Amino acid sequence: MSFEFDPSQFDAETLAIRAGFERSQNGEHSEPMYLTSSYIFDSAEDAASRFRGEAEGPVYARYTNPTVNLFESRLAALEGGEEAVATSSGMAAILSTCMAFLSAGDEVLCSADVFGSTTGLFSKYMAKFGVKTHYLPLGDMGAWEAAANEKTKLLFLETPSNPLCRIADIRAFANLAKGVGARLAVDNCFCTPALQQPLLHGADLVIHSATKYLDGQGRTLGGAVVGTHADMAEVRAFLRTCGPTMSPFNAWVFLKGLETLSLRMERHCANAQGLAEWLSQQDEVTSVNYAGLADHPGHALAAAQQSGFGGVLSFTVKGGRESAWACINGVRWLSLTANLGDAKTTIVHPATTTHGRLSDQERDAAGITENLIRISVGLESLKDIQDDLRRGLSCILAG
Ligand SMILES: *Cc1c(COP(=O)(O)O)cnc(C)c1O
Repeated sequence: MSFEFDPSQFDAETLAIRAGFERSQNGEHSEPMYLTSSYIFDSAEDAASRFRGEAEGPVYARYTNPTVNLFESRLAALEGGEEAVATSSGMAAILSTCMAFLSAGDEVLCSADVFGSTTGLFSKYMAKFGVKTHYLPLGDMGAWEAAANEKTKLLFLETPSNPLCRIADIRAFANLAKGVGARLAVDNCFCTPALQQPLLHGADLVIHSATKYLDGQGRTLGGAVVGTHADMAEVRAFLRTCGPTMSPFNAWVFLKGLETLSLRMERHCANAQGLAEWLSQQDEVTSVNYAGLADHPGHALAAAQQSGFGGVLSFTVKGGRESAWACINGVRWLSLTANLGDAKTTIVHPATTTHGRLSDQERDAAGITENLIRISVGLESLKDIQDDLRRGLSCILAG
């Protein structure tokens, strides 16, 4: 029985489990893992034409592997994109994007509150090759418009942002990018395609750290870029030459992760919403950043652009660094780790960890204060998470 699986006919929950899978003649039910670095050619002629890219068929696992390709086609289907290219990590996805689309003399407009290593890549490495990056506040569209010019080749942002959960209007940024002939890249790590599809709002490229929610259980590193066939040919050409490639084992783990993505995201959202509301009522807490709260400045936009508010929130406590550290040291089983998007709830102090390499000035500009705590809300019972946090918060008043 053969059946042509047309992704446009199916909902995301089905795509996450079925899209892209063509069984071998063995009829295996579950997706197989192909641990092979290279492939046999049918003839010298076949080898020559595959190398020239004229004939279909794999050449070398630096840029083609059936298990990795299956993950790529499934992710592309979920994002509503033509094609995805998988990479060895989220940072490798951002690096590959830069190498594919930027040259000396180009300029990048980047949101001031993106992932710390993303800033490091632009400031420390792309700058060495003559690419200048302007960091701009996500909420100040006027500043982006003023900074955009004919040298601008890439706009880069995360929404919701980390750790402050600010929301960017993807459509507005896409229009700005189009106006100056630049590409808009959206790092969709926090929402995943289960909650937000940036390409459908006009973005040109979607970036993923698969390490987070796509895996969902904190096991492996990986990343991806999603976009048009033409753009992905550029990204894949960089992988073909330089090799920041996803391993087939990791791709297989991500395929298993994708199968439960929408279910997990539903629960992450529900737990985060419950925790945000509960935190808002605690005496030791001075503010809560979560777009699911009605008084969050990005609430209406997030409700329109996303199908859920996500699993990450942050909050400030009374006092400064000592208070935040007392709370973090006071919890008993929440994981003190910088990872996020895990079944396990994690807690971290951004100012001295994830954003610790920023200067005080950069950190102030990004709004990351010493009394800020970030939580990636996991899949445990909400009541148990609250109980442990209550223990942590009680240490603030004691101290
Ligand atoms: C973790 C993360 C990255 C980097 O991904 P790695 O897989 O750790 O390289 C990029 N962007 C965001 C938003 C992240 O959270």
